[in-house]
Amino acid sequence: MYSSFDTIKYLEENNIDFRDQGKNVTQGWINIACPFCLDSSYHCGISPTKLFSCWICGKKGNIKKLIKEIENCSWYQAEIIINKFISEDSIQEKKERKNTNKFIWPDGISKEPMNIHKKYLKERRFIPLELTDWYQIRYGMNWGTYRYTVIAPILLNGHTVSFYGRDITGKRGKHWKAPVEKSIVSPNALVYNSDHIIKDKIIIVEGVFDVWRIGNNCCATMTDAYSIEQINFIRKLGINKNLKKVFIMFDSEVQAQKRAINLCNQLSVFIDIEILKLDSGDPADLSKKEVKLLRKDVKI
Ligand SMILES: [Zn+2]
Repeated sequence: MYSSFDTIKYLEENNIDFRDQGKNVTQGWINIACPFCLDSSYHCGISPTKLFSCWICGKKGNIKKLIKEIENCSWYQAEIIINKFISEDSIQEKKERKNTNKFIWPDGISKEPMNIHKKYLKERRFIPLELTDWYQIRYGMNWGTYRYTVIAPILLNGHTVSFYGRDITGKRGKHWKAPVEKSIVSPNALVYNSDHIIKDKIIIVEGVFDVWRIGNNCCATMTDAYSIEQINFIRKLGINKNLKKVFIMFDSEVQAQKRAINLCNQLSVFIDIEILKLDSGDPADLSKKEVKLLRKDVKI
């Protein structure tokens, strides 16, 4: 009866904070802080069929009961409020809203490299033009927040949703991820290069440069501390891309190997997984010949 109630529109117009992904949130559900108890962390879930339930106090029911509690109003008033947010084309509207949700590049980022960028990439055996064609990379110019960085857009289904930048001066922090609030999807909830999976096996590495070295069917966590969201993302990739096997190839140093084992343990519940060990360095150090052999070995 209330299934076309536009939950998000209602919450947005009433400035009620909500989550549609992350901790405590089932896919397709929208979570808010429960109005029935002293919940401060989005434990009250609203289902796609507009039923709600709270993980803490156990209150459940239909959307009308929830609205009545939020608004502190009568059943009759709750009904009127609900009707205001029922729209037959609410699904269509949501789709359109998503499409207009375009990623906006911050100032100071260009498609054209400066000589310093070219030199940096060439020293690492990368060819700027190839990277532009394949990964649509960009460059932080000599000013602004992202000055002197090489920038990899993070693509999801063909659209830029965020980016990862790498300092080329060695003077600042190495990693310059897009802030979550400027991203369409948080870079902490994704892996890099998932758009370039065309086989049923992938290698997961840590760095964007490792991906650039290895190529298709190779994804990067982009971090020293991957998140639960990333584990979930990889799990879903496994389903959506029909992955038969996942290889993990992190840097050879001790801490990275510990992270590899940890990631392996968490993913092994969902998918066939194996750790590949390097004798030294990181995957980006591999030669062309070594990459060729590796790809042949793991059949990617
Ligand atoms: Zn509650």
